[in-house]
Amino acid sequence: MRDTIEKAPVSRAVVHRYVPGTDVADAVGAAAELRATNRMVTIDYLGEDTLDAGQAAHTVDTYVGLLRALADKELSQFGAAEVSVKLSAVGQALPNDGEKIALDNARRICEAAKEADTTVTLDMEDHTTTDSTLSILAELRQDFPDTGAVLQSYLHRTEQDCRDLATAGSRVRLCKGAYKEPASVAYQDSEDVDLSYVRCLKILMAGEGYPMIASHDPRLIDIARALASRHGREPDSYEFQMLYGIRTDEQTRIADRGHQMRVYVPFGEEWYGYLMRRMAERPANLQFFLRSLVTK
Ligand code: FAD
Repeated sequence: MRDTIEKAPVSRAVVHRYVPGTDVADAVGAAAELRATNRMVTIDYLGEDTLDAGQAAHTVDTYVGLLRALADKELSQFGAAEVSVKLSAVGQALPNDGEKIALDNARRICEAAKEADTTVTLDMEDHTTTDSTLSILAELRQDFPDTGAVLQSYLHRTEQDCRDLATAGSRVRLCKGAYKEPASVAYQDSEDVDLSYVRCLKILMAGEGYPMIASHDPRLIDIARALASRHGREPDSYEFQMLYGIRTDEQTRIADRGHQMRVYVPFGEEWYGYLMRRMAERPANLQFFLRSLVTK
């Protein structure tokens, strides 16, 4: 890893625990280690909200190089290691043609993923981007039907979005949501966010799509397991997801019990923002990172 991490005013151990490195080689190395313990992987090249078309193009090139490297190491086949993409990192926030640029850029990443026999999931960002992200998803899915979406249970709209996306072939990652959102669009109370998560899970598990349960919350994981069983779902018809470095022992336990477990691996120079944003945005996330320093 480059010396930016050595110089950071954040403990190196903390950074390394959550972000395996800055380069494609670091991400591929982490993916290989995770695959060796039967965990699947989704890799995020860190960076978001770019207002520079050159930077957006660099992000696309990095994803394409990453996907080739994963294929060369035989890590990506059958979707075992895929990529997660923030549309704001590939141009969505650019003035004028941002949405079109992001669509074209995302399409290039989807093509590279297809060549590597794997998939792309579009991360979800703050609520001002939800409609644009879902409309880009719909366009991409015409050519790449396995492109995944992310829905956030803290948003009031999400139950309806779950109904719309719980269709055959549709991959939907359900998370609580990580951005600071106003009460006009999002539940503010963590209990309400959790209740919404359960309502959304019920819709996704009862539907025909492929639910991806992204949470470290043991209660929600238990509920997801119970719903999968109630709906007679086979173990390969849904998956659990957690972040790199969080509840690592539980990740392997879930995988060892015969469930599919995918780990979200962020890498890149922009790691500082990733850590700080998570800690700053929601008090729950600060607790979440502090707790992980003492527990596994
Ligand atoms: P929390 O409310 O943070 O934690 C709930 C419970 O989990 C805790 O009470 C505790 O019991 C347990 N727990 C949590 N951490 C630990 C720990 N370290 N050790 C022991 N127990 C612990 N957000 C977005 O907005 N957009 C995205 O695209 C997005 N993608 C994501 C992808 C993945 C794979 C994951 C896992 C999360 C993603 N998120 C995304 C972040 C998500 O929205 C939440 O901010 C984050 O996951 C924390 O929520 P939680 O469900 O884990 O529950």
